Amino acid sequence: MCGSQITLVRVTHVTKLPLIEMFSSVQGEGPLVGRRQVFLRFAGCNLACAYCDTPFVPTASCRVETAPGSETFTLWDNPIDVHQVVNCVHGWLADLPQAHHSFSITGGEPLLHVDALVQWLPQLSQLLPLQLETNGTLTESLRSVLPWLRWVVMDFKLESQTGEPTPWNEHRQFLQLAAQVNCCVKIVVGAETPIEELQRAADIVADVARHVPVILQPRTIAGRCSVAGAQLIAWQGVLSGAGLDVRVIPQTHCYLAVL
Ligand code: SF4
Repeated sequence: MCGSQITLVRVTHVTKLPLIEMFSSVQGEGPLVGRRQVFLRFAGCNLACAYCDTPFVPTASCRVETAPGSETFTLWDNPIDVHQVVNCVHGWLADLPQAHHSFSITGGEPLLHVDALVQWLPQLSQLLPLQLETNGTLTESLRSVLPWLRWVVMDFKLESQTGEPTPWNEHRQFLQLAAQVNCCVKIVVGAETPIEELQRAADIVADVARHVPVILQPRTIAGRCSVAGAQLIAWQGVLSGAGLDVRVIPQTHCYLAVL
């Protein structure tokens, strides 16, 4: 055997995927905030967060912008073939050279579709680098697609916000793997979030991947940040004490009133 590293590639015959929407906009959250991206929102999720306002239930058709950033849409029948997406985005990139920074692979939970993603991501990554937004629970699925990802934004789902028990062990395992690429942990917080919950999340990051940035994202309610600025700054100070890079970033696309 030669000494080079071997990547095991999952071979599947699933090539079509249920999409909710495809559009071009400015990333409003996380480490790439402000970057123009092509958003691919996949249907389906394995969690049921109380605050979720994201459309992810599979639909007969997905909406696709007629031109990048136009906020006018046409409908494509689901499921979608990757070649349809590649051809469309290829045209967008030709029409707007250099405007787009990356893809946002988002949901729902995109990793539910790992069998098709191993076909899709190599082709999409020929157009733009890929950012995965994920709830941070499906570690083995991440393992299958990690070679094609440039950034992974994983959530830590706090029970105080989701209404469901926090999957601490799943988050820990996922972070161990995701930290092999450019990864950050995003934690949605509300005014009632107990500091003990945040501390437990910070302890895991400090234990597993201290270099990974932690983003506190205050919940947006009725278009406004629902947590007092002083509270966010106080939490940032406490968690930074564990030696972490802690940032406070609200959902900026709400203020811009863009998709
Ligand atoms: S993980 Fe995301 S898409 Fe799924 S229910 Fe929670 S907020 Fe909604």
